[in-house]
Amino acid sequence: MTKHFACTACGKCCYGLLPLTFKDAFANIGRFPLCLSWTPVLKGSKDFPMVKTLGVTITVAKGQELAVLIVPTSFIPSSLPCPALQADNLCGIHESKPSRCKTMPFYPYRDERFQAELTNPRPGWECDTSTSAPLVYQEQKIVDREDFDRERQELLDEVPLLRRYADYMFKYSHSLPNNLMFSVGKTKAHQVVTSLSSFLTATQNTDARNIAQQQLPILKTYAEQTAGDPKLAFFHNNYVNWSKEMAYLAK
Ligand code: SF4
Ligand code: SF4
Repeated sequence: MTKHFACTACGKCCYGLLPLTFKDAFANIGRFPLCLSWTPVLKGSKDFPMVKTLGVTITVAKGQELAVLIVPTSFIPSSLPCPALQADNLCGIHESKPSRCKTMPFYPYRDERFQAELTNPRPGWECDTSTSAPLVYQEQKIVDREDFDRERQELLDEVPLLRRYADYMFKYSHSLPNNLMFSVGKTKAHQVVTSLSSFLTATQNTDARNIAQQQLPILKTYAEQTAGDPKLAFFHNNYVNWSKEMAYLAK
């Protein structure tokens, strides 16, 4: 199978949640409203081995094993654009944009053998997948793989840090395993998200106060932008709660 792909810079994929490496999250601490998102995958799923490598595994009810990705995320509803997206639909931080954006349409949280379908644009996206676009995937391999390999390596390098965080969260949040089990295969509205402040506390980040001072105004801005819209209540409530936690750390 061969796949062709070119970005026409329509900007349509620059809306909503944006998974980040920790490196990119902290490089954009004054730009993105950040959280940690937890995505559980059942044993037997084709994504299970890679998620197990990049995340954590837990055993839940009836001995069921779950692999869980824990990903720093720019937590933005799908109706709102990335704060770096310009009015002309171009990226305002193109030269330094996150690895996740550079690697599009590929996704290093997934085994390379299963990347082909990711070149299929979602409804409304204007990616060029005609044969006149560059060949990007053949024989289950990514052709130009520099960005993919860099992002995968960043994720691998960050595994010890996120496992330290996971240990802390499983120790102090006894409802977490059940919440993860409940969210398997569910929509984004049921996903498990935890605050950046909990990560800063768990990992005893020595720069926590400075980070909190930069994050706090971002969270407050998004809380204001999402107020009063019932469809955005999940986002709004989290911004409000996380703002309180950040305010405490920012003192
Ligand atoms: S950083 Fe740039 S490329 Fe990435 S989502 Fe935002 S606007 Fe789009
Ligand atoms: S949706 Fe496709 S064409 Fe549009 S900005 Fe994203 S990658 Fe480029």
